[in-house]
Amino acid sequence: MAAKRVTLESPVTAVYGIGAAAKERLEKLEIYTVYDLITFLPRRYNDWSQVGKIADCREDGELSFYATVATTPNVNLRSRVKPLSFYVSDGIRRVKLMFFNSPYLMNKFVPGDKCFVHGKVSKFNGGLQLVNPYIEKADKVDDNELIKPVYHLTAGITTAQLTRWIKTALDLCAKDLQNCIPEDIVKANGFDSPEVCYRKVHFPSTLEEADKARRQIAYEELILLGVGMKLKKGNTTEEKAEVVIPGTALPEEVKETWKQIVSNLGFELTADQKKAIRQIQSDLMSSKPMNRLVQGDVGSGKTAVAILAMSMTALMGKQAVLLAPTSVLAKQHYNTAVNLLKDSPVNVALLLGKTPAAIKKELKEQMADGTASVIIGTHALLTDDVSFKDLALVIADEQHRFGVKQREKLLLQNNSDGTVNSVHNLVMTATPIPRTLAMVIYGDMDTTIIRQKPVGRKPIKTYFSSSKDDNSIFESIRAELKSGQQVYIVCAKISEDEYEVMDDDIVGEDDDTKITSVIEMKEILNKKKITKEYPAAVLYGSMPEKTKLAAMQQFLDGDIKILISTTVIEVGVDNPNANLMVVMDADRFGLSTLHQLRGRIGRGQNQAYCLLVSESKSETALSRMRMMCESTDGFELAQKDLELRGPGDFFGTRQHGIPTLRAANLYTDLGIAADATSAVNKVFEQGGEEAQRLEGAIKSMFELRFGGKMEVL
Ligand code: ADP
Ligand code: MG
Repeated sequence: MAAKRVTLESPVTAVYGIGAAAKERLEKLEIYTVYDLITFLPRRYNDWSQVGKIADCREDGELSFYATVATTPNVNLRSRVKPLSFYVSDGIRRVKLMFFNSPYLMNKFVPGDKCFVHGKVSKFNGGLQLVNPYIEKADKVDDNELIKPVYHLTAGITTAQLTRWIKTALDLCAKDLQNCIPEDIVKANGFDSPEVCYRKVHFPSTLEEADKARRQIAYEELILLGVGMKLKKGNTTEEKAEVVIPGTALPEEVKETWKQIVSNLGFELTADQKKAIRQIQSDLMSSKPMNRLVQGDVGSGKTAVAILAMSMTALMGKQAVLLAPTSVLAKQHYNTAVNLLKDSPVNVALLLGKTPAAIKKELKEQMADGTASVIIGTHALLTDDVSFKDLALVIADEQHRFGVKQREKLLLQNNSDGTVNSVHNLVMTATPIPRTLAMVIYGDMDTTIIRQKPVGRKPIKTYFSSSKDDNSIFESIRAELKSGQQVYIVCAKISEDEYEVMDDDIVGEDDDTKITSVIEMKEILNKKKITKEYPAAVLYGSMPEKTKLAAMQQFLDGDIKILISTTVIEVGVDNPNANLMVVMDADRFGLSTLHQLRGRIGRGQNQAYCLLVSESKSETALSRMRMMCESTDGFELAQKDLELRGPGDFFGTRQHGIPTLRAANLYTDLGIAADATSAVNKVFEQGGEEAQRLEGAIKSMFELRFGGKMEVL
């Protein structure tokens, strides 16, 4: 039987040396196919090409040099670790090489052999030595192979193995890689063929070469991301949505009510909020389905925009739905909506998972017959028995907790005549998602950015404390309470062994510090007699829904002064009277979570303070704390987060269902992304052979790179 030809699609086991165990380990690195193996890029490189002299040996330094074996290798076979040592000399100095568990070197080197050595220098018995260095006969060393790739490894796989497998994979199929970059761009940039490019990125002869190959791969990746998805989807038939506002303005008969609704806000909208509403209004005048992302940092006032958009839709006799990620938030939005619409004929409905069955049934009837037109709720709205009379607008707040697939049920509505209508779709997010990424997550979206904060806001002051026993923590809490303000305390744990797991928590990092739980914190405050005067409540995800809402309500009403909670309060909760937040074990949270948490305070006119408490000694943890103290800008923090965690992990892209990017950085490569996409589109517009070639290449490479891994199509 003839062996099957190995292709890029073949499973990794097609590569000589990869068995079932290695296959399983490679899966941890998201490597499934030969293609994945080839495109698994080095994390960095060790540069062994700077060859020095033995005299350059410094304790704890790393060094490459050529030398001659000076003494016969000497091994102690009785010892468990079989230490083996010999001296090498470069004619000026000599140095001892020490190996453990490598008795085979005994017969490999004899005095006089010329060799190449690379290793780390350490001190021993007053002299210097190299322990377990890399050593090879000089005539076997290729000067062009001294840039050594370093890969992100997983347990049970060594660099040597991975390097070997990648080499084999390249030899087997690198020629099948197709070029997804327009030919003129390839020429202009001096790009290589994909085969050469991937060989260079794994086995470069210089660091510059590696860098250039990586840039080419980033360019290719951005093309796949920017164009591949659209090609895959194909030219779907033109979707149509209802025209909510016929004509070019709100009709006269609703204008009065509209004005009343806006004035019920109790504040003047910022220019950016007004712009957002104008854009939404104009979307609602068209039969092209709205697909808009409103991006605004925490506290920028997205809720008002959302509720006004819903009100507008309801005034036009249609229905609008707002999906909130938690019941606490849904309830809060409901209160806002009820307040804005109190003088209008519009009925507002709130549907939560825990809404009593009888009431649920009634609400569902009101949605089905159109009595309720502003509808707010959680996942409960996504069940099969929810139907609408005339749903025209769906808004998802902080939608990263709702997948597109989940919302699809609402976004496509069946008409009585059997046709299907698209529903206008608005997404609100505080995550500063770059446009390229937004396109991947949400498809081709229009973006509105709310930059301004409402006037009169003072930037939150953030401080750091490295000790939980720091008395000033509790003094600050007392002082704040005394001045009539309320306090949030956030903990990384519910009780001794119960965690609230959020998207970007730093799990497992620096495990030796003890985490203070919500329950413990309550006890500490009891002991310090703070709760005697100022009632405290706890709040966490697994609490009964009713208790949760009650605690939140009491806190909003001011009956509860201290809210001790997990990150459930992260999203959206709004209490302008709470202006101190203490975050215990702050090192346990990612920058984006910390920023979201901190966004709960500073929502009124008072100066707000955030106190980050962490006893961690980890350098990254400390630099995260420093960044939080220095910046209150979500976009800036997002960028920093990216620098700290690397492009693949930022802002929970995994939760968005996006596979890790390998070369491109969606923040810093934004410019390239736009260029790359437009270059490809230009070729498509021109048509001809190159357009055909490119389309085919992008389609097949997209399939290999992202196909099946992308949940968000
Ligand atoms: P986010 O964008 O984080 O969802 P919210 O919509 O919850 O922010 O708004 C934060 C706070 O700012 C709320 O208390 C809201 O009432 C208030 N707010 C919103 N817009 C304005 C404005 N234009 N002027 C003053 N306060 C505003
Ligand atoms: Mg919000």
